[in-house]
Amino acid sequence: MNEITVLDLPLREELVGQQPYGAPQFDVPVRLNTNENPYPPSSKVRAQLSDAVADAIRTIGRYPERDAVELRTALAGYLGFGLTYESIWAANGSNEAMTHVLQAFGGPGRRLLTFTPTYSMYAEYARNTHTEFVTVPRASDFTVDAALAIDAVRRLNPSVVVIANPNNPTGTLIPVAVIDQICAAVDAIVMVDEAYQEFTAYPDDSALALLAKHPRLVVARTMSKAFAFAGGRLGYLAAAPAIVDACRIVRLPYHLSTQTQALAQVALANSDQMLAQVVRLRAAIQSLQSWLRSEGLDVPHSEANFCLFGPFDDRHAVWEGLLEHGVLVREVGPAGYLRVSAGTVAEMSAFRVALLAVLGRGE
Ligand SMILES: *Cc1c(COP(=O)(O)O)cnc(C)c1O
Repeated sequence: MNEITVLDLPLREELVGQQPYGAPQFDVPVRLNTNENPYPPSSKVRAQLSDAVADAIRTIGRYPERDAVELRTALAGYLGFGLTYESIWAANGSNEAMTHVLQAFGGPGRRLLTFTPTYSMYAEYARNTHTEFVTVPRASDFTVDAALAIDAVRRLNPSVVVIANPNNPTGTLIPVAVIDQICAAVDAIVMVDEAYQEFTAYPDDSALALLAKHPRLVVARTMSKAFAFAGGRLGYLAAAPAIVDACRIVRLPYHLSTQTQALAQVALANSDQMLAQVVRLRAAIQSLQSWLRSEGLDVPHSEANFCLFGPFDDRHAVWEGLLEHGVLVREVGPAGYLRVSAGTVAEMSAFRVALLAVLGRGE
C-alpha cells in the first residue's frame, strides 16, 4: 500500500499542521489531568445502569428517540429554575452541544469572542465552523468584568461570546451579576460554559437564573465532571426554546444513542448519589490550594475541581518529574504554570509527596 501522510491529502488549509485536541494520557497510578470525578458509581447505581442498558438493547435495532424528550425532561428537572424540556438541548458532551451553537450562530463572516486564558476547545469550535476566532485577555487576576466584556463586544462585533465560568484552566469564577450586565448590553449570543458549576461554593448561584430575562443567553452544562459520568458522554445547554430549535436544525439525525439516553436517565434519577463526592472533592482542592501556597507557590484562587500552581522556570521538567513519580497533571495555562485536578484522599497525598520530591524538598 502507498504510504501517504495527511500532507499528501487535499486537507482544508486551516487544518494543515494541526493536532487533535487531547491531554497526553498515560496509564499511571495517579491521573489528575482531566478534571474528572474519580469516584465510581455505587454498586447499586451500577446495577441500575446495567439493567437500563440491557433493557435498551431490546430496541437497539431501531433508531433512538430523535429528540431525546424524556432525557431533556430529566435534565430540566435536575437544573430546576422552572425549566422544561423545550429549553434544554442535549448532545454527546457539552463540546458537541456548544459546537451546535456555533454551527447555528457562527459561520463565515462571523466571529466568536472569548477571554483568555481559557478552554482551548473554543478555538476549535470556531475553526470547525469557519467562524473567525477573536480573543481579549482577562484581567491580571483572570476575572472578566462587565466593562471589559462590553468594550470587547463593541470593538469586535462577535455573533457569539463564550465565557467559561468557572474558567478552565484558571478556576476563576465571575459573579452572575456580571453576566447579567453583559447580556443586557450586547446583541450577541452569550454562552456561559458552567462545566464546573457544581463544584463552586454556591452551585445554585448560576446564570440559569438569568434565562427568563435574556433570550440570547445560553448556559452550557455537562455530566462529565461533577456528575462522574465522563465516559457516558452527555452534555447539555439551557436556553430559550428558539435557540434549542436552532440547535435541532444543525444536529445530526439520531445523534444521542439509545444507550446514552438510557444511562444518562438512570444517572439523573440518582443525581444525589452521583454528586455525593462533590463536597469532598471541593474540600480536597481548597485545601490543596492552601498547601501549595504554604509551599511558596502561586495559586490563582479556583472555584472548580482543579487549580493552577507555579510559576516554574521549566514547567515541563516539573510535569515530567511528577510523571516519573506516577502522577499525571496537565501542562496548560499561563507560562510556567501546571494544572492539577482534585482526586481521592490517596491521590492528593501522592501528589503532595511527588511534588515535594520533584522540588527537592522531600524527606
Ligand atoms: C470538561 C469541559 C467541558 C465538558 O466537556 P464534555 O464534552 O461535556 O465532556 C466543557 N467546558 C469546559 C471548560 C471543560 O473543561
